[in-house]
Amino acid sequence: MSELRYNHLKDTWTIIAEERARRPHDYATHIHEEEKGDISLCPFEYGNEDKTPPEIFAIREPGTLPNTPGWKVRVIPNKYPAVRIETPPDRIGECFYDKVMGFGAHEVIVETPDHFKHIQNFSKEELNNMFLTYKERIKSLSGDIRIRYIHIFKNHGKEAGKSLVHSHSQLIALPKIPKIVETQINQSREYYREKERCLICDEISQELKEVKRVIYENDSFVVLCPYASLFPFEIRIVPKFHSHDFTAINDQQLNDLSDATQIAVNKLYKTLVNPPFNMILYTSPPIREIPAKSDYFYHIDRFYHWHIEILPRIATLAGFELGTGYYINPTPPEDAAKFLREVLL
Ligand SMILES: [Zn+2]
Ligand SMILES: [Zn+2]
Repeated sequence: MSELRYNHLKDTWTIIAEERARRPHDYATHIHEEEKGDISLCPFEYGNEDKTPPEIFAIREPGTLPNTPGWKVRVIPNKYPAVRIETPPDRIGECFYDKVMGFGAHEVIVETPDHFKHIQNFSKEELNNMFLTYKERIKSLSGDIRIRYIHIFKNHGKEAGKSLVHSHSQLIALPKIPKIVETQINQSREYYREKERCLICDEISQELKEVKRVIYENDSFVVLCPYASLFPFEIRIVPKFHSHDFTAINDQQLNDLSDATQIAVNKLYKTLVNPPFNMILYTSPPIREIPAKSDYFYHIDRFYHWHIEILPRIATLAGFELGTGYYINPTPPEDAAKFLREVLL
């Protein structure tokens, strides 16, 4: 059973996940075999559905049955979860130390049945299916009142933490709102209180005027390199319309998101020659009655603005970053945006 432990000094939480430590020692060999082309070992292939826990959700060809081939996107529980839905989300104080038992959901979203297809090769329809699955899973898990935040991310490339070659995203639903999300909420709330405007809406209108950090835009989305990017070639995909909740996205906006993502990922792929990256969705936590935080969600629909970050992992985090929380980014985002804007697809 895993647990979330609080670090008083750093105000951070760590998931101590014993079960993941018991991952088979020969896992690396397994990946190696797959890379050599022995895809029969891959649990995400058609015909290998029984090598994973039963599916939670799938987008399928009409007439195909769960846990059989014919799926386009398939969601399954992580075999080595960091958190579990069966664990009660008890908050425990052990003298000085605080912990929350490892309650939550840890799911794997297999985005394609094709072992050799990666996000830069996805069609718009495949990206639509991926985002539609994100939407459906967040909506479904929001119904569990014990869940306080649903985090979806994708690791692309081994250096970005991807452990299986076959393209997939992960979802971790947590009994707490993580600090990074909480900081975004607090900052957006403060800005709104002062100006009665949304922070990200204001940021986008400034960016669209300045142009120099913008890579691409369509009717609903803008793709840009953030002003204070932590990483070289960091990209943010932001809705041009105000919305706090990713699950409120409509079909037209979903199409535009797939278009913006396809352009962003392909430009990154071409400019940096297939860099490893993490893609992270930031959306509003499900709105809850939390007695200890009675006005926490008040007007969150007006001040929070969902978005996606793509963080290339081409620079290593070293002692300075780890010790100070400041980042050294050797590529000004204005230059990164220029390279990305000008690269031809
Ligand atoms: Zn595979
Ligand atoms: Zn906004």
